[in-house]
Amino acid sequence: MARSYRAEARRRVGPKRERIRPIIERLAAEHADAAIALRFSNDLELLVSVMLSAQTTDVNVNRVTEQLFRKYRTPEDYLAVEPEELERDIFATGFYRQKTKSLRGTMQMLIEDYDGEVPTDFDALLRLPGVARKTANVVSSERGSPQGIVVDTHVRRLSQRLGLTKQEAPVHIERDLMRLVPRADWGRFPHLMIWHGRRVCDARRPLCEACVLTDLCPSSRV
Ligand code: SF4
Repeated sequence: MARSYRAEARRRVGPKRERIRPIIERLAAEHADAAIALRFSNDLELLVSVMLSAQTTDVNVNRVTEQLFRKYRTPEDYLAVEPEELERDIFATGFYRQKTKSLRGTMQMLIEDYDGEVPTDFDALLRLPGVARKTANVVSSERGSPQGIVVDTHVRRLSQRLGLTKQEAPVHIERDLMRLVPRADWGRFPHLMIWHGRRVCDARRPLCEACVLTDLCPSSRV
């Protein structure tokens, strides 16, 4: 996109501070069902699901955890088997050796430092082996106290297309979004972006003609 065209597109839609609320409201109306796709029934299952979801789809994780959570109910259960057995049980999520190592390290720390519970403190979550900022963000957000904004591939792409950030690195994109998105919306914002990204604003073929944000989006093709 030529620079003058980009500037013209930005002028057409107006400043991002004025667009962010209508963007959120319209997406909330459009994707009222937007929610995390991972299936879990307690904090431990939530943490494990998110850890397993790295580099694979939520559908794939759900397929694996349906069996996994029947067999492994407590942190101790994950340490009671040989690592190779856990590797086999999570094999289909990919990167199973690294994930097994992270799961075992995390379970060990939960038992030793947190009485077998998943800590609520964000920094404590970040100290768990294999738990990076995105995982800690998802876990905190699903427990109702988001500490940041989850940035995945959809959030990244849509934030850039909507002119909400010019950054490339997730951590910088998150910082821009935290300044822009009202705190009360930190939890639902990523879900709205993810579902809009999946259903409408596809990576290769965005369906701008069917999008509710065309007048708010500097990348709109209509
Ligand atoms: S107008 Fe097009 S590029 Fe912009 S958010 Fe909608 S689908 Fe994506």
